[in-house]
Amino acid sequence: MTHLNEELKQRGFSRRSFGRFAALITAGASLPFYNEGALAQLSATRDPIPPDAVKINANENPLGPCPEAAEAIYSVTRKGGRYLYEETFAFTKLQADLEGLKPNYVTPYAGSSAPLHQAVMAFTSPTRGLVMGDPGYEAADRAARFIGAPVAKVPLAKDFSHDIKAMLKAGSNAGLFYICNPNNPTGTMTSRADIEYLLANKPAGSVVLLDEAYIHLSGVSAASDLVAADKDVVILRTFSKLYGMAGLRAGAAFGRPDLLAKVTPYSAGALPVTGMVAALASLKVSSKLVPERRKIIADVREDVSSWLEKKKIAFVPSVSNKIMIDVKRPGREVVEAMFKEKVLIGRVWQAWPTHVRVSIGTAEEMAKFKTAFAKVMQV
Ligand code: PLP
Repeated sequence: MTHLNEELKQRGFSRRSFGRFAALITAGASLPFYNEGALAQLSATRDPIPPDAVKINANENPLGPCPEAAEAIYSVTRKGGRYLYEETFAFTKLQADLEGLKPNYVTPYAGSSAPLHQAVMAFTSPTRGLVMGDPGYEAADRAARFIGAPVAKVPLAKDFSHDIKAMLKAGSNAGLFYICNPNNPTGTMTSRADIEYLLANKPAGSVVLLDEAYIHLSGVSAASDLVAADKDVVILRTFSKLYGMAGLRAGAAFGRPDLLAKVTPYSAGALPVTGMVAALASLKVSSKLVPERRKIIADVREDVSSWLEKKKIAFVPSVSNKIMIDVKRPGREVVEAMFKEKVLIGRVWQAWPTHVRVSIGTAEEMAKFKTAFAKVMQV
């Protein structure tokens, strides 16, 4: 830690913050208040969750891992007494190949929460803050506050994209610009042109963290070529969403090796081989699996969207696996009323107090959602 402490001091952190870095490093992605599952729990009432409840509160994928991934897990289980680093290397290599990147531009992780927190630790400080959209995914905000870095939350633009010009204005000395694309919770896109504008106009020394947790659901091509072109951008990917592996844990960060080197000192150790083999098997079938699953989820989302339209309930059109619905009263009341109907929906954002986030489940789950929501909303 001595070397790290010295570096933290130079970046303007007080001695008091050092322990907080240690806490984040030791706990990694398992800090209880930082991931989607834990945030979803916070939004639910304290009552025990009925076993037959519909869980559409954490942007999970009810389809789970694909059969090839499940098979890979079964067959590696007996070999689980070994570290099996070669599986992690194989995953990293295939992920890099598929994105047109050199393998040293990809770092594997157990999900994307860890590199998200670690990028905040690497690139923000008391003098160089975090800039993000509002409403946005809270993990970066929480990590920045935890280590004492300032946070500027910039309202989304009228079309629900990140308001890049306002973010640049708010971040004249920012260390990190967090762009979630498509955004969580709104399921809306920020254009490629806007991301390029941000990269071209951001303050020197700052980094863009492009969180592509939901990119596969959007059908929009990813921005890995910006990484290949050595821009100041780190991209995060996870297997928790389209690939249905939230509990299995796999993800990756893409970036120039010097940027990844700043993020990786905050993690150590082998990755779970179950997650690695499942991610590798998923990638092997990704050219078929991604469009197939995108369509399954989009069909259910479009069905729910037309139902909401028919019921004259306002919502934000989404390209992802969740919809923000305007319930025109405190969202919290609706979350609680839905819980009583055994349907767990997502949390409420302070910036949009009358909206609730509803994740897209199976057609059967969404049928139960409609029945309960019609009752709660009296429509
Ligand atoms: N980024 C975004 C935008 C998310 O919504 C989530 C989880 O829902 C994550 C990152 C982290 O997920 P995981 O750690 O499961 O990869």
